[in-house]
Amino acid sequence: MTFEKLGLSESLLRAVAHSGYTQPTPIQIQAIPAILSGGDVMAAAQTGTGKTAGFVLPMLQQLGPHTRVTSGKVRALILTPTRELAAQVHKSILTYGKHENLLSAVVFGGVNINPQLKQLRHGVDLLVATPGRLLDLYQQRAIGFDEIELLVLDEADRMLDMGFIRDIRKILALIPSQRQNLMFSATFSKEIRKLANSICHDPLEIDVAPRNSTVDAIEQSLWFVEKPLKADLLSELIQETTEQALVFSRTKHGANKLVKKLARDSISAVAIHGNRSQAQRTKALADFKANNVQVMVATDIAARGIDIELLTLVINFDLPHVAEDYVHRIGRTGRAGASGVALSLVSKDERKQLKNIERLIKRDIPVLGDYY
Ligand code: AMP
Repeated sequence: MTFEKLGLSESLLRAVAHSGYTQPTPIQIQAIPAILSGGDVMAAAQTGTGKTAGFVLPMLQQLGPHTRVTSGKVRALILTPTRELAAQVHKSILTYGKHENLLSAVVFGGVNINPQLKQLRHGVDLLVATPGRLLDLYQQRAIGFDEIELLVLDEADRMLDMGFIRDIRKILALIPSQRQNLMFSATFSKEIRKLANSICHDPLEIDVAPRNSTVDAIEQSLWFVEKPLKADLLSELIQETTEQALVFSRTKHGANKLVKKLARDSISAVAIHGNRSQAQRTKALADFKANNVQVMVATDIAARGIDIELLTLVINFDLPHVAEDYVHRIGRTGRAGASGVALSLVSKDERKQLKNIERLIKRDIPVLGDYY
């Protein structure tokens, strides 16, 4: 299959070629023609499947080739659960839309609202937003919703987990009912299905990654280790490799403590979690992406959806309480066909969580050893 066969315009094909992609991913093969035909889409797809290009490319075509937005209005709204994901989706819009004459913006909380107010004044064809800040801007009359033609909910499951359902319902009540709807979610629980049914009309359902199964390209293994020794083991494991590692910690406090411990062992590390300011989070991610630091310690919510090219190593310093989060975490590596390694440090009190994870992924994770 080629991108040419999916019905994309010449200018979008040029942008795709410039990104270096030669073949569409399975979700792109299904989603792009469906979205171009104007229908609703409901897709079960995790980050790493190429889903962003799967909706951004056809949206740009639907809205293009020239801006038609009225001052102070928005035509396509993309809602994401986190600031990082919002920034990332917007970056894709700029990358793929560089030959289109469309206006876009990204807005999220945690930063000064004034520049965002200004940016929206003339209207935008595409707006990427986190729900809370979007409502703030709406209430301040910075943006009108009555010209919205297209709505995207990205990582809908995480939006529900993070308690955004009320904000989403408020937004839905404010936008025109005649519109195209696209909904993406890593999993399709009963709750998500209920939300989907209230939003989408006769959607095309796409399920690319078998639900809750981990990508085969990821090599998973674990160490059994006493809790107080975990930080030492982590330090040793990182010293043995030159690879960059994304380390998951269940708590914000734990993430900070780990960064300090690694620094004492001369390992450069940064933390990314909800207690840090937006500027700190952006800088930490930029430093990690630029390979200025070897380790990024993250909590689940902060790391959700973050796309880091060429990340080969994910370490679970703690196991997540929710087994699905294990799948999300290790999905940060082995993206778009690349290989990856996922290591978990498991203490005695986490054996039950391990069982739940192994049940979910339908396999036993090989044990590398005991560290006592
Ligand atoms: P996503 O699932 O949207 O977060 O995308 C995951 C990664 O796959 C991103 O780094 C994209 O740049 C990359 N990607 C998207 N589409 C393709 C493609 N057709 N071929 C190769 N890589 C892709």
